[in-house]
Amino acid sequence: MTLHRVIAIDGPSGSGKSSVSRSVARQLGLRYLDTGAMYRAVAQGAVLAGIDVEDAERVAQYAREMDLPMPTDPDEQTIIVNGQDVTATIRTSAVSLIVSAVATNLAVRRELVRRQQEIVAAGSIVLEGRDTTTVVAPDAQVRILITADPEARVARRTAELHDEVSGRTMSQTMTEIIDRDAKDATVVNFQTAADGVITLDTSHLDLAGSVAAVLRIIADSEKELAP
Ligand code: C5P
Repeated sequence: MTLHRVIAIDGPSGSGKSSVSRSVARQLGLRYLDTGAMYRAVAQGAVLAGIDVEDAERVAQYAREMDLPMPTDPDEQTIIVNGQDVTATIRTSAVSLIVSAVATNLAVRRELVRRQQEIVAAGSIVLEGRDTTTVVAPDAQVRILITADPEARVARRTAELHDEVSGRTMSQTMTEIIDRDAKDATVVNFQTAADGVITLDTSHLDLAGSVAAVLRIIADSEKELAP
């Protein structure tokens, strides 16, 4: 019997969870699911369809009906919603600013969690996003909460979003990620580890160091689980 490996990773904005999860999936030869991209795709798709993101009912209906074939190859992450390529636009600040309205819509969460669980059930995977260790895959063999102190998170996001890391771009990013985390925290607990979830603080680790630390946690947990 082949072991169905499910590794769930969550954490706040700028913790590095996406880059780390993707690299871990690549190194272990596993599928990869970016659940945050799904919330971003609903937000962007709704705007393109002329729906007000605050209109909870219409957005929920949009989420239930949309065609969103999620990629699971860590090296091929093109996101297409209803036939439109939104890979680049879902990463813009414009979408980051409205995504919490979608993520705090409980009917949208129900629909996306249902789709995510279907993808997880299809086979081994590394899945990443704020409620993956607690709601989407609470039975995953390995569950990790990646954290980093606010200074490290703001610096990482600023470097990702802007060409220059200056006082101005840092404070702009700080407001954006702190606000988004505060809104998100009203519906999902991603800042403290639930029972059985291992916390990894990456404040003083670079990407390679964080990936190595996650791979060690996975190896240790799987050793413990081995018969
Ligand atoms: O991870 P990322 O920053 O791309 O996530 C974008 C947004 O999607 C988060 O700010 C949050 O509002 C929402 N999200 C969520 N649950 C997840 C993943 C993301 O609510 N599992």
